Amino acid sequence: MGTFKAIRIDKAEKGTTAALAQFDEADLMEGDVTVAVEWSTLNYKDGLAVTGKAPVVRRFPMIAGIDFAGTVEQSSHPAWKAGDKVVCTGWGLGETHLGAYAEKARVKGDWLVRLPDGLSARDAMAIGTAGFTAMLAVLALEKQGLSPKSGPIVVTGAAGGVGSVATAVLGKLGYHVIASTGRLSEAPYLKSLGAAEVIDRNELSGPAKPLAKERWAGGVDSVGSTTLANLLAMTKYGGAIAACGLAAGMDLPASVAPFILRGVCLLGIDSVMCPMAPRKAAWERLARDLDRSKLSEITHEITLGQVIETASNILAGQIRGRIVVKIV
Ligand code: NDP
Repeated sequence: MGTFKAIRIDKAEKGTTAALAQFDEADLMEGDVTVAVEWSTLNYKDGLAVTGKAPVVRRFPMIAGIDFAGTVEQSSHPAWKAGDKVVCTGWGLGETHLGAYAEKARVKGDWLVRLPDGLSARDAMAIGTAGFTAMLAVLALEKQGLSPKSGPIVVTGAAGGVGSVATAVLGKLGYHVIASTGRLSEAPYLKSLGAAEVIDRNELSGPAKPLAKERWAGGVDSVGSTTLANLLAMTKYGGAIAACGLAAGMDLPASVAPFILRGVCLLGIDSVMCPMAPRKAAWERLARDLDRSKLSEITHEITLGQVIETASNILAGQIRGRIVVKIV
């Protein structure tokens, strides 16, 4: 057994440290599949883990990185054999289980999804956890009965990872997408992805009234806090908001009025422990409903060696779209 390159997080006297280092293959954790990792991504949670700004990492030493795509090297799991192309997101990767910013990962075969036809390993990670989460939100809205005929859909944090993919997918599906952003300079980008309207996020960030003028049938929210409260107060009768993020805060200063007077639904979205059936369905839908040309417009590539210096930029809301990390 040899060593491989990885971004290693260690506990320090104060907080944590992150460094590109050699990791011993013998120290990989339990799992029945070993994967040669080819691509990963930088998600908001990765930014928190690498900078140590929030206690994402719960085991030391840790290899950071919450998602990867690559090729199976060795497997004792019945579903997988050497050479299979796989994608893995969540399940505690980079939090409790050695993660994705590494040339090798050992995981449970039950965590893996076969790369859908038409998606390369790089495409899968250009989508990554953020894009996968955006698709889970779209599927949740559809399950709730929403369609383009229901009315506009608002997407908050639209220029970020979840927001960019949600805007592109909903636009392609024929929805009238209202993209909310703090970066109005990104309006041409958002329109090119599929937004019909771009609004200033300040319109949605103040304290929310119990009910306000009905503006949309549904929404995909990465922001939380007063923004989510405003989204709910402005949702049309019978509409639904899929809540997936907390970029502005974890609180929700809302009233029950939208639920009990307008029958509005709040749909919770979790990508980490998402069961296998909706996981596979979301990846299949991403292969079908996300234009590859839009995906390349969203994506910026960095190397494994650039992850640490880029991690703080995502927390500062400075990243547009998605960052894909070339591992080898
Ligand atoms: P990004 O940083 O790429 O996008 C977040 C966007 O939110 C920013 O680009 C910005 O968009 C907006 N934003 C940032 N700060 C604020 C603020 N203070 N007030 C209002 N808007 C703000 O992150 P991701 O897209 O990767 O993740 C988005 C959120 O979703 C995060 O909170 C993340 O933790 C969560 N998430 C949850 C998952 C789940 O399983 N539920 C999975 C993946 C992500 P703009 O400049 O356009 O305003």
